[in-house]
Amino acid sequence: MVVGAGPAGCAAAYTLAKAGIEVLLIERSKFAGGKNVTGGVLYGSVLNELIPEFWKEAPVERRVQRHVISMLSEKSSVSIDFNTDNSGHPESAGYTVLRAKFDRWFARKVEEAGGMVITGSRADDLIWEDGRVAGIVAGDDKIAAKVVIAADGVNSLLADKAGLGVSLAPDNVNQGVKEIIKLPRETIEQRFNVTADGGAAMHFLGFCTRGIHGGGFLYTNQESLSLGVVVQLKALIENKLKGVELLESFKEHPTVREWVKGGTPVEYSARLVPAGGLRMLPQLYTDGMLVAGDAAALVLATGRALEGLNFAVASGVAAAEAVKIAREKDDFSQQTLSQYAKLLSESFVLQDLMRFYGAPQFLENSRLYGIYPELACSLAEKVFEVDGNPKMTAWQLSREEMKGKISLWQFVRDAMAARKTL
Ligand SMILES: Cc1cc2nc3c(=O)[nH]c(=O)nc-3n(C[C@H](O)[C@H](O)[C@H](O)COP(=O)(O)OP(=O)(O)OC[C@H]3O[C@@H](n4cnc5c(N)ncnc54)[C@H](O)[C@@H]3O)c2cc1C
Repeated sequence: MVVGAGPAGCAAAYTLAKAGIEVLLIERSKFAGGKNVTGGVLYGSVLNELIPEFWKEAPVERRVQRHVISMLSEKSSVSIDFNTDNSGHPESAGYTVLRAKFDRWFARKVEEAGGMVITGSRADDLIWEDGRVAGIVAGDDKIAAKVVIAADGVNSLLADKAGLGVSLAPDNVNQGVKEIIKLPRETIEQRFNVTADGGAAMHFLGFCTRGIHGGGFLYTNQESLSLGVVVQLKALIENKLKGVELLESFKEHPTVREWVKGGTPVEYSARLVPAGGLRMLPQLYTDGMLVAGDAAALVLATGRALEGLNFAVASGVAAAEAVKIAREKDDFSQQTLSQYAKLLSESFVLQDLMRFYGAPQFLENSRLYGIYPELACSLAEKVFEVDGNPKMTAWQLSREEMKGKISLWQFVRDAMAARKTL
C-alpha cells in the first residue's frame, strides 16, 4: 500500500503496478494534486526512465529554455540570462508543471498500470502487528497491507507514528508561498521571449525576501505564471515577517512588476519544504514500512534551485524496488527493506545530498541575501553611469562600492566557501 498521491507515491505505486503487484494508493484530497504545491520545475530525466517520453502525454506546461538568475536591490536588478535550444534533448530538460493537472495524470497512469487509487481518504494511523507495521487506519476503515510506503509529504503523519519522523526545526525547513497569475499565452511568449512550447524559469535573490534567508521564483506556464518566495522559517520568525507579505512586495519590485503586469491572480497556496539536506535525513524504513519523498526530507536545496519533484520520483521508485525484493523473499522486515537505503545511495538522491552536505550551512550566510545583491546592483549602476567625471576601472569601482559594506578578506572567504560547497 502507498499513502499519498504526490510524485513520490505515484512513482512508487506505478512501479509496483507495472510489475504486476497488487497495489493500493490512497490520497486524502478529492483528487490527486488537489492541494499540492510546487513552483514548479520538474527535472524530467528520472520520470523519463519510468515513463519514456512522458512529456508527450503528461500535462506539462512548458519546456524550460530560458534560465535567469537575478539579484535584486530595492529598485534594480542584475541578471544572468541563459537561453538554450534544448528541443533536441527533451529528456534532460526541465518542465514547468501545475500540480493539480500533473498529479492527476500521474495517478491515472497508476490506474492504467493496474493499481487501485482511492482519493478523498486520509490515513489517520498505522496498524501494528507483532511490532511491525501491518496496514493503515483511514477513518472507520482498517486496511491491512504487507508493507506501507509513506509518501504523505512534509510533516508526514505516518512517519511520525512509526518513529521515523523528520525533525522540522525552523532552521531545517522553508516556507514556500506561491501565486498563480493568469496571462494570455501570446503575452507570455512575447514578454519572456520564449517559443510556443518553451518557457522561462527565473530565480531571484535579495529584495524578494527583503534580504532574509530565501529566494524568489517566477515560472512560465502555458497561460499563467507561477510566482513565489521560499523563505527559511527561522528567518521569518526572527524578522517577524510573513511569507505572504514578502510575496506582495516581491510582486511590486520594478523588475517583477513588468513581468506580471496585466495578470490576474487566480490561486494562492503555501507549504513547508524540507531544506536541511542530509543532516535532517531520518531512518528511512522499519519493519513493514518505508518513507519516500518529502516525508523523508529528500529535497535538494543548494540555492541554485529547489529539487524535490525528481527526488520524490526517484525515491518512490527505489522504495517500490525494495518492496519487489522483499516480496520475492516474502520478508518485509527492516533488514530486507534496508535495500531501499542501498538503492538510494547508488542513485543521485543520496549522492547529491552527500555532495551538497554543506549547502544548508553555507546558505545561512546572511550576506548572500543582503549585501551581495545590493553590491551587485550598485556596482552595475556605477558601471553604466556616465556622469561627466573621470571614469574608474572595474577594480576601483568594486573596491569603492565594497567600502564600509564588506572587507576584501570576507569577500574572498565567502567566495572560497561557495566554491567548496556549491
Ligand atoms: C513553493 C514551493 C515551490 C517548489 N518548487 C519546486 C520546484 O520548482 N521543483 C522541484 O523539484 N520541487 C519544488 N518544490 C518541492 C516539491 O514540491 C516537493 O519536494 C514534492 O512535491 C515532494 O513530493 P512528495 O510526493 O514527496 O510529497 P507531496 O507532493 O507533498 O505529496 C504528498 C501527498 O500525500 C497526500 N497526503 C498527505 N497526508 C496524507 C494522509 N494522511 N493520507 C492520505 N494522503 C495524504 C497529500 O495530499 C499529497 O497528495 C517546491 C515546493 C514548494 C512548497
